[in-house]
Amino acid sequence: MRATARVSDTLDFLQPHRLPWLLAGNAYLLSGLLVAIIFTRSSLSPTLILVSLLLLLINNSLGWLSITHFKRLERRHCSRLQAEREANRRLMEEIKEHRAVEARLRHMACIDGLTGIANRRHFFELAEQELRRARRDGTPLALCMVDVDLFKQLNDRHGHGVGDLALSIVAECCQSVLRESDVLGRYGGEEFVIALPLADLDTAAAIAERLRESVSALRLPMLDAVTPLTVTVGISRIEAGESALDPALQRADRALYAGKARGRNCVVVAPRLLPDTPSTSLGTDWASSLMTRPCADAATRAPGLLAAALTVEPPRGPV
Ligand code: GH3
Ligand code: MG
Ligand code: MG
Repeated sequence: MRATARVSDTLDFLQPHRLPWLLAGNAYLLSGLLVAIIFTRSSLSPTLILVSLLLLLINNSLGWLSITHFKRLERRHCSRLQAEREANRRLMEEIKEHRAVEARLRHMACIDGLTGIANRRHFFELAEQELRRARRDGTPLALCMVDVDLFKQLNDRHGHGVGDLALSIVAECCQSVLRESDVLGRYGGEEFVIALPLADLDTAAAIAERLRESVSALRLPMLDAVTPLTVTVGISRIEAGESALDPALQRADRALYAGKARGRNCVVVAPRLLPDTPSTSLGTDWASSLMTRPCADAATRAPGLLAAALTVEPPRGPV
């Protein structure tokens, strides 16, 4: 099959060259015959004329056969070319489809399906990039843990559908107060986590306060006045020498718990570590130095809970 195709290709290559020669030979013979007939008519035998005409006929037939063969080859070549084009088109479509599926899978692997923000895994990828940049450039990096207050109550009272909607609205609200360079992710359940590049604790506290105010100002038609939508935010910063996010996240988480203990709907800033304090030895001393931001009126109701929450609650793992 392959050999036939190769022979046919060779013929295809030769055809255009052979044709002009055939035609030239034909014309030469015809003119020779005419000259012979005109000048030596009496001495030409009918056999010679017949043979000459036969030769011409053969020559012409060969030319005609060559032309038809050439056309047949041309048609075959064209249909092969068309089949190849069709196969290429189908291949391109398949590649396009594969790329779309790949992009969709990549999106699904990085984005939280409910809220449309980065999922936990993708948040860590992005935040770790920011951590490396901060360490390289010697710039600050702050972390915020954001937890929706009394979310279980909201679910119980209005159903999980409304709870889901509230979560996506809170995520959208968080996104709207953050800068383009900030990294927002869903940590799990009703908890969000934010990395704030180039932000020291004061800047982070101001951003978190803005976020808290924006969420508490949300008026969702499906929620009654008894279930306000609020968040508590715990803030920490990456300390000099820290090469991982976890210790700072734990400090932010503890600050968040302190905020819950203070009565929720508030921003709590974890204190800076002293230069020689190992990050693993955070205990009640750390609790006493927590900086808190103005809280909702409920905040002052349970001052004793702060120390209790910090000593009793262990740092939480992923939900
Ligand atoms: P706190 O103010 O102390 O944080 O109280 P809370 O009720 O918010 O916290 P708790 O941990 O007791 O409850 C969290 C609830 O969030 C429990 C869980 O059913 C709900 N939850 C977690 N993920 C989702 C989700 O994707 N959708 C909905 N609707 N609810 C969720
Ligand atoms: Mg929670
Ligand atoms: Mg909560």
